[in-house]
Amino acid sequence: MTYTVLTLFPEIIDAYFNASIMAKAVERGIVSYRTINIRDYAQDRHHTCDDAPYGGGPGMLMLPEPLGRALEAAGVKGRESAAADSTAAHRTAASPRTIYLSPSGRTFDQKMAEELARCEELVLLCGRYEGIDQRIIDRYIDEEVSVGDYVLSSGETAALVLIDASYRLMDRVITAESLDEESFSGGLLEYPQYTRPEVYATLSVPEVLLSGHHENIRRWRLRRRVEKTWTLRPDLIRRGLELGLFDGETRGIIQEIQKDE
Ligand code: SAH
Repeated sequence: MTYTVLTLFPEIIDAYFNASIMAKAVERGIVSYRTINIRDYAQDRHHTCDDAPYGGGPGMLMLPEPLGRALEAAGVKGRESAAADSTAAHRTAASPRTIYLSPSGRTFDQKMAEELARCEELVLLCGRYEGIDQRIIDRYIDEEVSVGDYVLSSGETAALVLIDASYRLMDRVITAESLDEESFSGGLLEYPQYTRPEVYATLSVPEVLLSGHHENIRRWRLRRRVEKTWTLRPDLIRRGLELGLFDGETRGIIQEIQKDE
């Protein structure tokens, strides 16, 4: 998978790709990336990338011309028809999937991370200031994606959220078992975890985890996953029941908890 990030601050993105598990994934050739500095595509003497919005209002907007040239340099083909197309049906095979990070977008979640992890190439456009000229969205963007209902000062941190949540799902980045029982897999949150020492500040590790009895540990962990999800994210339990995500054992635990309430 190749991530191409268009940004006014490539150093933010570079730092992430050069550290920890991501650096290893790049070294092993599982992930590749490039940053494109939008400022390199501004053609005036001052490398201007922003201007005031037509119609008035506060702040500055990113200019369409440097953005368009930067996107073309990333291999993204412009559409001739003006209609923005959130279903990405206009995308040709030759043009990589192109996302603009924006509070107006579809809210990012684990399911979308799984979808992105299957892409061969992803182009991520990071906004700054008050955002970007609408014509860039209409002409080049397949999809706007938001990381949540709040406003960030820039798209770089949001792009890194998409990158981080997707690359770790690719084969060989981390072990398949680590992914199996973590939060959101199977519609539940993760069970509580403990490591050394056995007693920390008078708090002990649950007895069952020290027992070495695999079946009891498995059952205890499933129960804790269900209880924790029930308490912290009851919406996930409701959704899982509706979508039929849970097996008989999990549904049994849910029924017991419901009875006790
Ligand atoms: N005026 C805009 C906000 C601009 S914030 C509005 O009201 O919608 C500047 C940039 O930060 C945006 O161009 C976008 O790339 C990024 N950004 C801000 N909040 C975001 C969010 N919740 N998700 C993804 N990107 C976001």
